[in-house]
Amino acid sequence: MSEPTPPYTARHTETEVIRTQPEPSGHREHSSSIYMTSSFTFDDAEHARALFANEIPGSIYSRYSNPNSDEFVEKMKLLEGAEDGIATASGMSAVFTAFGALLGAGDHILSSKSVFGSTHQMLTQILPRWGITHSYGEITAPETWEELLTPTTRLCYVETPSNPALDLIDLEWLGGFCRQRNILLVVDNIFATPVLQQPIRYGADLVIHSATKYIDGQGRGLGGVIVGKGELIEKIRFFARHTGPSISPFNAWMFSKSLDTLALRMERHCANALNVAQFLEQRSEVELVKYPWLPSHPQFALAQRQMKAGGGIVTFVLRGGIDAGRRFLDALQLCSLTANLGDSRTIATHPASTTHSKLTEEERRAVGILPGLVRISVGLEHPDDIIADIERALIAAQE
Ligand SMILES: *Cc1c(COP(=O)(O)O)cnc(C)c1O
Repeated sequence: MSEPTPPYTARHTETEVIRTQPEPSGHREHSSSIYMTSSFTFDDAEHARALFANEIPGSIYSRYSNPNSDEFVEKMKLLEGAEDGIATASGMSAVFTAFGALLGAGDHILSSKSVFGSTHQMLTQILPRWGITHSYGEITAPETWEELLTPTTRLCYVETPSNPALDLIDLEWLGGFCRQRNILLVVDNIFATPVLQQPIRYGADLVIHSATKYIDGQGRGLGGVIVGKGELIEKIRFFARHTGPSISPFNAWMFSKSLDTLALRMERHCANALNVAQFLEQRSEVELVKYPWLPSHPQFALAQRQMKAGGGIVTFVLRGGIDAGRRFLDALQLCSLTANLGDSRTIATHPASTTHSKLTEEERRAVGILPGLVRISVGLEHPDDIIADIERALIAAQE
């Protein structure tokens, strides 16, 4: 990574992020090059030895590192205020790599209950095969978490805001809770992004992202990243180097570029989402709206303390249950029906009939998914157009 040279005097993270780039290739390119190469040559035997001995910086083989993944990680470190980091092929590979590198047979994870679907499958179906167990804590009842600890609890894992209920956990409280008990705190910061919330400030040891969501912001590819404490990333780097969840140089290049506009995009996502949430709150077709930046959110005060804005996701409960939810989706003309979020295009999902349809209604309720619950990932379109589309679909859903 090229060090900024005088008279470079940038101080703000936004500037540092935009101005971080790999060593120039010698072609005087202004935008970063893409290094689509599996390996890198050595000047001579001594150079090879020094690189392998970690005595000098530099890329060896793209499974270990690559200038594009280095650039992406450098920018994420700046944004999250982290010591070190590593990029991975997807958000799930970031989660698995963190668990795989830091835990072993006999270890126990304390996790918030409402985690991403694949994280839930990993905790319940995959990790137990290696003797790693877990307990789920109610995100809205942290006072009960003490009882869930076991002598082998090594790691606490949370998503805040949670998906799709948008419940929060107090990261400052949780940071203290974990520190006092010598438990690692790992936060999935995908919904908030570092623009709205920096968990490391509150004591998180690691922060995990799916770059697939807001970091790319345009629905173009999969990627992930883990940032945090140097000594933990060192272990994770060893694990990743020899198990191979590496990111493609092309995707790392794309995400690096996307980070230049992350702060700007989040501003618009949040402004549009607040607009949508306020609109929904006034509608008789809607039973309940959940959005961290609405005073009606049960944790509004915490959201104001912990986040810089409410984020880009709004959830609401339609009157009329499952059928109304399906009619709502069918009547949308602008909003996309797709299983993603954090895109420039507004996306609507109805978890009860799609992602969570295999659960019983009771199981769905236990994770906050009511039959009429709709999740909107509010995009960057003009807010009037998004609202007009939702309004038309609300009316159609009641017919
Ligand atoms: C999408 C997502 C993931 C998984 O990321 P992928 O890039 O799809 O592997 C994990 N956690 C949350 C909260 C997500 O939204």
